[in-house]
Amino acid sequence: MTVNKDAYLSLKSQLQQENVQLVAVSKTKPVSEIMELYHLGQRSFGENYVQELMEKQSQLPHDIDWHFIGHLQTNKVKYLVPFVSLIQGVDSLRLLREINKQAEKANKVLGVLLQVHIAREETKFGFDASELQHLWFKHAEALQQLKNVHIKGLMGMASLTTDDEKIRSEFRALKQLFDAHAGQAINGSRMSVLSMGMSSDYKIAVQEGSTMVRVGSLLFGARSQNNP
Ligand SMILES: *Cc1c(COP(=O)(O)O)cnc(C)c1O
Repeated sequence: MTVNKDAYLSLKSQLQQENVQLVAVSKTKPVSEIMELYHLGQRSFGENYVQELMEKQSQLPHDIDWHFIGHLQTNKVKYLVPFVSLIQGVDSLRLLREINKQAEKANKVLGVLLQVHIAREETKFGFDASELQHLWFKHAEALQQLKNVHIKGLMGMASLTTDDEKIRSEFRALKQLFDAHAGQAINGSRMSVLSMGMSSDYKIAVQEGSTMVRVGSLLFGARSQNNP
């Protein structure tokens, strides 16, 4: 197996024109394929299994910018904090507190994105609009105390559907939520990252204001059924 270099180069140039960051999602794919993209200049990679990420990280160059992109269990945070640069998909205050605690121990400030549940049909992790509102305003003081966490923005996944208009409306709703909250600074910094769009829907996401896409199968080929 080998990565699709043409797809990578074409995606890269499309995204550059729009000022959108590409996170190459390499879950289930071997380090040799990650290195192929690395040699083309790619530095941001996303993984969503903690054990797999740790194994790969130890074998790969240290200037890779690792993103954790899935649902993260509180007890696994400590393994990621030493090397991960952005945790995409924080879905509870409890998890934020644990990240803060571990980051403080490691004497660093860790970037996170809050995951918002935008897909109306599926059960996916994340805050809904009212929970986000609640976190932001009711827990404002608690958030301010998390000095070792930098909430850089929001992340969301649209429904798995071929209905482009549905996908578009979900991304649009996330963008509105982002705009509504981006004005208020936490610990002096505002949200600037809106992570939305994957292989099948990144074009719509970019049209709707994404600043970061997470693309896997378009670059690396399909994953097997057992490893979604
Ligand atoms: C797997 C995954 C992706 C990438 O999906 P593709 O369809 O392969 O591009 C993006 N975001 C998250 C959270 C994922 O788990």
